Amino acid sequence: MALEFEFSDEHKLFRRTLRDFMDEEIRPMIDNRFYESEEFPWEPVRAMSEQGLFGVPVPPEYGGAGLGEIGYGILLEEVSRVDTGLATIVGAHTGICLAPIYLFGTEEQRETYLPPLCRGENIGAFALTEPQAGSDAANIRTRAERDGDEYVINGTKIYVSNGDVADTIMVSAVTDPALGAKGGVTAFIVDTDTDGFHVSSKEDKMGIRRSTTAQIEFEDLRVPAENVLGNVGEGFIVALTALDGGRATLAAGSCGGAQEALNMALEYATAREQFGKPIAHHQDVQFRLAEMSTEITTMRYATYHCLDYVETYYEKVAAGEDVDKSFREKVSRRSAQVKVQASEMAAEVTEKACTIMGARGLQEGYNLEKGLRDAPIAEIYEGTNEIQRLVIGRELVQRGRYEW
Ligand SMILES: Cc1cc2nc3c(=O)[nH]c(=O)nc-3n(C[C@H](O)[C@H](O)[C@H](O)COP(=O)(O)OP(=O)(O)OC[C@H]3O[C@@H](n4cnc5c(N)ncnc54)[C@H](O)[C@@H]3O)c2cc1C
Repeated sequence: MALEFEFSDEHKLFRRTLRDFMDEEIRPMIDNRFYESEEFPWEPVRAMSEQGLFGVPVPPEYGGAGLGEIGYGILLEEVSRVDTGLATIVGAHTGICLAPIYLFGTEEQRETYLPPLCRGENIGAFALTEPQAGSDAANIRTRAERDGDEYVINGTKIYVSNGDVADTIMVSAVTDPALGAKGGVTAFIVDTDTDGFHVSSKEDKMGIRRSTTAQIEFEDLRVPAENVLGNVGEGFIVALTALDGGRATLAAGSCGGAQEALNMALEYATAREQFGKPIAHHQDVQFRLAEMSTEITTMRYATYHCLDYVETYYEKVAAGEDVDKSFREKVSRRSAQVKVQASEMAAEVTEKACTIMGARGLQEGYNLEKGLRDAPIAEIYEGTNEIQRLVIGRELVQRGRYEW
């Protein structure tokens, strides 16, 4: 029997329509705008949300497009082709805020929060990282103390994508310091119009400058106990489950960014002549183009194969079914693998594109220099590649044998 590996007609149509929309409507809208100022790009964000692009994986009964994780991967791939910053906005909103609310939310939480998030009327964010807790996320100190029917949250979160504009933030906070990450961290849905929420600063970043990154503070911020997402003490499970899907779709985004760099280099190499012929006809340049396209092709297969696993995993979580531990670990390992490989591949492909374009690769106006600044960031966020290598290695050593 042949191994089936084909997008559904619905996903194919989605990709075609989305690609045209991003190239024809969004690309001209962001040309040379928002990047230097590092302002939140409301105009393209509004245009994209009007197309239903802020709730792609979520089922229609909650206002989403119902295209699952494969559809969400296509979304990040196509948006990243046009701009990695816009993809980061969509990713922080969808993969790590809206998705965990869908996966772990009560029916009431889903009905309250998902429709405005899916419409893009509300923007979502995810706040885990703290000044002393980056890779060592278990070391968070933001505290949530129970007071009657409410929790009182105090603490500081840093590097929160969309943090300056978000309406809804998924916040990880310590509810039992004695238990730490193993039962002492809880996830909360926080409305940013609540007293005690402040944006204290915005980062000035080297790349993905169309995505804003903020430091936020909670000062005696009160949330009703019904805003606990998932079970009390299981906040780490909520965050890590969201990050499994987040990393796999981030890999899809890296494929999109790499494809854009390859196409820029290809266009340049066929037009630019040196030594009496287009540089694309010099064998070394052709070899580089061949390597770039091969890397993107193989990475795309691995990424969507992983997303297929994530989709099965998420369907079970959303339905409240038990998920076999071994399957869960396999999904985490696969999403870590594609995140590492795709982010490093995208950075390498962008560098190769730069070599092919010579001086123009570094020149503003050719847009590749933005790609050079944007690409390495995927190696850091949603867990650095070193930490992902630890996840992969640990699973391998625990099993004692490599299983595909
Ligand atoms: C643009 C951007 C957007 C972000 N958005 C969000 C967001 O929306 N929400 C959020 O919560 N966070 C966000 N982050 C934070 C991001 O997840 C962290 O930056 C990341 O987890 C790494 O933490 P750190 O930067 O503190 O690095 P550190 O943890 O200080 O690590 C520094 C270096 O040490 C290495 N290292 C650390 N521990 C080990 C170890 N045990 N073994 C080997 N190497 C190790 C790391 O890999 C890295 O190379 C964002 C970050 C960026 C850059």
